[in-house]
Amino acid sequence: MALALAASVLVSTGAAGAPPSPAHIRVVYAAPKSAAFREIYHTMRQRRVLERVGAIVGLVRLPTTLTYRLKECAGELNAWYAPENRSVTVCYELIDSIVRAAPRTRSPAGVTRQDAIRGPVFQILLHESSHALFDLLDVPILGREEDAADQVSSLILLHLSPADAHMVVMGGGYFFATVAKEEPVDKGAFADVHGLSWQRFYNLACMAYGSDRRRYRMIVAKGYLPKDRAEGCGEEFRQVAFAFRKLIGPHLRVRPRGGERLRRAFRSAFRS
Ligand SMILES: [Zn+2]
Repeated sequence: MALALAASVLVSTGAAGAPPSPAHIRVVYAAPKSAAFREIYHTMRQRRVLERVGAIVGLVRLPTTLTYRLKECAGELNAWYAPENRSVTVCYELIDSIVRAAPRTRSPAGVTRQDAIRGPVFQILLHESSHALFDLLDVPILGREEDAADQVSSLILLHLSPADAHMVVMGGGYFFATVAKEEPVDKGAFADVHGLSWQRFYNLACMAYGSDRRRYRMIVAKGYLPKDRAEGCGEEFRQVAFAFRKLIGPHLRVRPRGGERLRRAFRSAFRS
């Protein structure tokens, strides 16, 4: 019951009669065998979650078709991009774990149940989409690809409407913090290709604060980001925006024109 309720609030901004996905984006909602995932299946289909992420990525001219797939993964809590068949896969198990980790109504930090579910779902889909863009567009990467994928995903989500961006920042932050509390900080964690969850939390907070100090001033005011780090976040954000403009910008269907056109395009794609 709790799961059913949670899944039903996954996404609430979809609009009826929206245009179909671009021709080079394919979406597949594989029906789950497990009854426990049926609500997630129906809700994500109804809310067109994969189509809406696909609509954002479809603003980039892709050389080939990219597939988004929601499927059951035999118990694996995962999401990945596979270059061999150019597909982003998200497991029901991962979505289910996000639903289970969400607060009953609101977290002590003020994150609503709805945002705690929708935020990480979009953050994860945009993260995997970033891997897809790096591969399909042959984007050179300095530093770790996992960090770069987080940065590009944050940059894209911060171009959404203030309400949608706030939702993903709060929900994504809640998810990283929740995972971080359970994460063993051992040699294995340091050796992993991903940063530690607390690092991913602070990177997301820094990108948000760096994108708009006034809008996200509560991040520093409430102590979610140390002042020392916060000072350089404007520069961190500009660095990612510059790399995006240089490396992915030329492939966009929209001429950014100071960023405003691009913001409008991202926003309308996300709300499609
Ligand atoms: Zn990744």
